[in-house]
Amino acid sequence: EFDWNRSDFEWSQEILQTSKAVFGHRSFRHNQLGIINATMSNRDVFVLMPTGGGKSLCYQLPAVVKRGISIVVSPLVSLILDQVMSLRNNGIAAHFLGRGQTEEEVREIYREKLTQSPSTQSLLQTLARNGLLQRFVIDEAHCVSQWGHEFRPDYKQLCKLRENFRDIPILALTATASSKVKDDVANHLGLINPVEFKQSFNRPNLMYEVRDKTKSVMSDIAEYIDRVHKGQSGIVYCFSRADCEDVAAGLREQGISAKHYHAELSTEDRAAVQQEWLNDDILVMCATIAFGLGINKPDVRFVIHHTLPKSIEGYYQEAGRAGRDGLKSDCVLYYSYADKKKLSRMVERTIEEGRMNGNAIDVTYQRQMRENLEAVVSYCHNHVDCRRTLQLKHLSEQFDRTLCKGTCDNCRSGRTGVEKDVTNEAKRLLSCIREMLSINNKITIKMINEAYRGKSSKSNLAKGFGNIKSYGCGGNTTITNADRLLHMMTSKNILREVTHKTGKGYPVEYIEVQEELADPLETGLLQLHMTFENSTG
Ligand code: ADP
Repeated sequence: EFDWNRSDFEWSQEILQTSKAVFGHRSFRHNQLGIINATMSNRDVFVLMPTGGGKSLCYQLPAVVKRGISIVVSPLVSLILDQVMSLRNNGIAAHFLGRGQTEEEVREIYREKLTQSPSTQSLLQTLARNGLLQRFVIDEAHCVSQWGHEFRPDYKQLCKLRENFRDIPILALTATASSKVKDDVANHLGLINPVEFKQSFNRPNLMYEVRDKTKSVMSDIAEYIDRVHKGQSGIVYCFSRADCEDVAAGLREQGISAKHYHAELSTEDRAAVQQEWLNDDILVMCATIAFGLGINKPDVRFVIHHTLPKSIEGYYQEAGRAGRDGLKSDCVLYYSYADKKKLSRMVERTIEEGRMNGNAIDVTYQRQMRENLEAVVSYCHNHVDCRRTLQLKHLSEQFDRTLCKGTCDNCRSGRTGVEKDVTNEAKRLLSCIREMLSINNKITIKMINEAYRGKSSKSNLAKGFGNIKSYGCGGNTTITNADRLLHMMTSKNILREVTHKTGKGYPVEYIEVQEELADPLETGLLQLHMTFENSTG
């Protein structure tokens, strides 16, 4: 196999010097050199690299070193503008090419090079004819694929690049791609025998832990920071603006240097606290997830989630803001079922508001949001499997738990589990639910749990649940295992929690059966498996 990391290419000296002189980097990070060499050799290249891994340099450096123009496709205008600005700050001629532009701006780009025709297509044609089109760079390439979680219809058009410009090399980069998505992207873009660069998304220096969130969470966090991270920089992610403020105030009461950050602060205030934190003038930032994107503080020693994240991918990114310098850092997630309810209500509200404002959120996306949340809950409920293995599975990477070496709470505890087929249990539970629904359509997780185990309260027995055929069909299942089974069925879209208002105006979640997926379970097409802790005596 060819070694792309060699440094005897004709450009090897120059890229090293330019990397230092223009970008200020003294060395390359993992795979950067190989990627640059491969794309500069005019090969098609596919790059899978975690966020923060340094993807931009892989196309910015060749663009600067080689004659001609690189066209970078990126899904977000804000990302494009950021990039254009930082390139210009480094003295590199970069332009934004997009729909929102005035004709005048487009003309300006043209004046730099060539003709006057105001369409991107003819700009590209002209560049190509003059040998000035260096390469196409597709950033966030997973957006091409409908199998990915961020499919963008516009990205589908990118197949035209290869059709119209056969000889221009393509560099596709992403931080999220299963092999299915990767093949789809490569096919769609028409990549020819692409050189592939993949690396593990595991962050070995991050220690992962999930804790139960109780009433004493505030003092637990203060005590933890004081004991383990005294004088160090960290982030506490909170659910709401009010929480950010409360947590920051609570920490200050305990003598910890903390401030809050959220969208309600003015732009100046936000910039100011952010700077204070970057300068270590304050140590702990209590923030909503709006904080952290694009911020690159290398020595963040801990990221605490005061509330659970919206998805496992989200958690990986947020926790990943710790320890960019490669030194050991801690990621602690506080879980409570009450928070899960808050989040799922927020999801439902977002969907509802979207519907009312006439921009109904796509059904697949709705399902995705609900599934994401259920996956986080399963992650928190799991006290057996390796946290790294669980997280990386969501990023389509297989991770061998023996490599964790006790760097997550579950591996450290030494607990192990066995996977069992719970299809029959799930079927019994489902028939119990159906019977309950036939008498009363307002049933909650708790009511089901109790009826399934034959432990209904008096008031629920009065509703007639004690008389159904499957009352107590869960035998001697524990509350927790019945709960886990219910959550699994919700996460698999067999059941659905729907929020209603009670007479007194409190929100409450009732369970519905989703026939689409209940059916395959009942007919045996769908099987369910669950990991159980190995009891040790
Ligand atoms: P990605 O796009 O993969 O998320 P970026 O390209 O934004 O990552 O890079 C993340 C950070 O790493 C940036 O602050 C960048 O300046 C820095 N970086 C990239 N390459 C290097 C390098 N070779 N040496 C030091 N820092 C680097």
